[in-house]
Amino acid sequence: KLSKRLQTIADYVPAGSRLADIGSDHALLPVYLAEQGRVSFAVAGEINDGPLEAARRQVKESGLGAVVHPRQGDGLAVIDPDEVDVVTVAGMGGTLIAAILEQGQSKLGSVKRLVLQPNVAEDQVRRWLAAHDWLLDDETVLEEDGKFYFILCAVRRDDAHEENVKLYRPRRIGGGPLLETEELLRFGPIAAERGEEAFFRKWESELEKLDHIMEGMVRAGTDAALSRLEELAAERNRIKEVL
Ligand code: SAM
Repeated sequence: KLSKRLQTIADYVPAGSRLADIGSDHALLPVYLAEQGRVSFAVAGEINDGPLEAARRQVKESGLGAVVHPRQGDGLAVIDPDEVDVVTVAGMGGTLIAAILEQGQSKLGSVKRLVLQPNVAEDQVRRWLAAHDWLLDDETVLEEDGKFYFILCAVRRDDAHEENVKLYRPRRIGGGPLLETEELLRFGPIAAERGEEAFFRKWESELEKLDHIMEGMVRAGTDAALSRLEELAAERNRIKEVL
């Protein structure tokens, strides 16, 4: 059984896809999708020896070696152009995910959908997508073992829902304050619109983290700490306003 996080990612992969799961580790996601008959072909890409070995073992045990192909390499280097139509990248920082997409652009020609799960810095992923004509088509926040994860699903601009084309234009959500583009990139424009419970909990937990950091700075009492404090307080107010 997959974790809630991987299950949610799996649910975003359309039936009949040819998939590349980059940074696949134990290849749990592609093996699960192959078991369900939901992918006709999958590459489990891994850069590191240990996880690659784990992926090979998992594929062997599942008997799905005809469908799931572990390959070693950096990011999208493991696939040929035109080989897949969905790419998943999960469980890494947003900066690394954005770098993988940036370096692998020549491999994205046949790709219709990206499903991305940054552990942190999800705004970096939204930024990369927006700058490269990928539109966020769906996003969700989920909580598992006390951690919050954004799952972002992007499609080509031409395949996007019409309302998502205006996703990052400054706008008010519900009765809240006007959110500028920067803030929409950061908070999550679709999740904010939906007002999912996990979305509010995620940002409340960020508030708690900020409080903790601010307390530390007050205690430290150095000039540097105190000047940072102002910045953090502004950030805190903004999150509070949006919530
Ligand atoms: N995707 C799985 C998940 O979400 O459960 C595994 C996530 S695991 C924390 C991240 C994996 O990405 C590690 O196995 C690591 O070796 C791999 N990785 C890191 N950088 C990579 C890169 N540039 N290309 C391919 N794999 C990479």
